[in-house]
Amino acid sequence: MTFSVFGEKFTRFSGITRLMGDMNDGLRTPGAVMLGGGNPAQIPEMQAYFQNLLGEMLADGKLADALCNYDGPQGKDVLRHALAKMLSEEQGWELTADNIALTNGSQSAFFYLFNLFAGRRSDGTLSKVLFPLAPEYLGYADAGVDEDLFVSAKPNIELLPEGQFKYHVDFDHLTIGEDIGLICVSRPTNPTGNVLTDEELIRLDGLAQQHDIPLLIDNAYGVPFPGIVFTDATPLWNPNIILCMSLSKLGLPGSRCGIVVADEKYIKAISNMNGIISLSPGSIGPAMASEMIARGDLLRLSQDIIRPFYSRRVQETIATLRRYLPEERCLIHKPEGAIFLWLWFKDLPITTEVLYQRLKKRGVLMVPGDYFFPGLEHPWAHTQQCMRMNYVPQASEIERGVIILAEEIELAHQEH
Ligand code: PLP
Repeated sequence: MTFSVFGEKFTRFSGITRLMGDMNDGLRTPGAVMLGGGNPAQIPEMQAYFQNLLGEMLADGKLADALCNYDGPQGKDVLRHALAKMLSEEQGWELTADNIALTNGSQSAFFYLFNLFAGRRSDGTLSKVLFPLAPEYLGYADAGVDEDLFVSAKPNIELLPEGQFKYHVDFDHLTIGEDIGLICVSRPTNPTGNVLTDEELIRLDGLAQQHDIPLLIDNAYGVPFPGIVFTDATPLWNPNIILCMSLSKLGLPGSRCGIVVADEKYIKAISNMNGIISLSPGSIGPAMASEMIARGDLLRLSQDIIRPFYSRRVQETIATLRRYLPEERCLIHKPEGAIFLWLWFKDLPITTEVLYQRLKKRGVLMVPGDYFFPGLEHPWAHTQQCMRMNYVPQASEIERGVIILAEEIELAHQEH
């Protein structure tokens, strides 16, 4: 059997495949401490809300209606109209339903968009996606049809009190060459919990416009929904920005619903790609989200339930980390949003890949830092000194994981 070049590339064991595999294995291993994946928390109030919503939608036939019909390739009309109205009213953006397309999760939107703006051009040159601030989301790294589709830039590191630090875009060294076809950032950032400042975002927007390329902002955790942001961050959109959102971190990852807000010409392109690749995006998530907007619940729950839940959880987790790991052993990226903590073991004598393997043997799953620097030009020791953990599990489970983490770190120091 011989696969095509496409086949060879997409059947590789990628970082994201390993991560999803770990999550699956861990879910079946009794006692495993799952601090690896990006599954959102099962927040009791949200679970109860979804149960109730689905019950009512079943009773009034809306669920059957969603299940028994294809939507158009641009995604459910009623949701696109409701979102356009909500975003125009809330954010003052000038957009209509024609500026919105739905996809089967935002992950598939990234696949479309990266390969729309980057890859082999008709003149034979290769255009690329620039991540102006690495570390960046692991899920991007393998989403290019062509090889070497990504370039990423090292950040500036600001050291903060209490053993924290924050990454910033290093504008002095950021080069946007002729070959860059798209700039992409996640805000809040997976894996670090960083939130690019408004100034950074406006500057990136200016650079993108100057180079006549779009700026993709991945808002999977951002405002206005699901709103997992603990700092001041103004959402930004204009026709040069492609804003990707998702229902996943509201607590609905199984709905596989991604939302793209962009200029009409990009939305048409996505709609056509949807038609070819999946006929139309799934309908259940959009039907639920439409109901949530109609009932005034989408933003209310984001603000009143989801954000406070994660804000509490992150503070508790930092306190737990500090009980077992002093600042000399572990620096923590300032948690400004998303559902992860990014730990920097500056003087660790082993790489975090080795640490990952040792932790996995003891039933603790975290993600080693090296995966989060797709397309970084030069080797950088920092990439092997960091680790991502999520803080979604119960406090007692997190503590169990942190105790083992601290033990393994101490062991590594003693060995060397
Ligand atoms: N963007 C970021 C930064 C994420 O962390 C994730 C999932 O973890 C996604 C996008 C993917 O979301 P979706 O479930 O909509 O494909």
